Amino acid sequence: MPIDATLPYDDDNIFAKILRGEIPSNTVYEDDFAFAFEDINPQAEVHALVIPKGRYVSWDDFSAKASDAEIGGFVRAVGEVARAKGLVEPGYRLLANIGAHGGQEVPHLHVHIFGGQPLGPMILNR
Ligand code: AMP
Repeated sequence: MPIDATLPYDDDNIFAKILRGEIPSNTVYEDDFAFAFEDINPQAEVHALVIPKGRYVSWDDFSAKASDAEIGGFVRAVGEVARAKGLVEPGYRLLANIGAHGGQEVPHLHVHIFGGQPLGPMILNR
């Protein structure tokens, strides 16, 4: 079920548990501001998720409340992961789902990085 991105942060969400090391993940990258890991149900040859270490429900919450250092660190981390995975020359796609219409399932901001193959149209059925 998609989440309501206007609700307060839930410390029991699955990505909070991954950040605390309570459940495993295949780590791709980590620094002071961000953590990246492989998506458990990949939708492309390369499918990684990058999350901020802070408690932010969505892109909306993050862009409104995070510090400039957190925002800068997170944006740089997304770029680091894409470069580390060799995605720049062939190209790749970033996606952040927000709330019900976005189909957001996990209430901790995450940016999807898709690549490793041609990714087709941006939105199907339009
Ligand atoms: P979204 O619909 O944007 O909220 O995407 C949530 C993503 O989290 C989906 O692509 C899931 O496959 C992924 N996911 C859910 N649980 C885990 C997990 N334990 N480890 C890695 N990825 C996960």
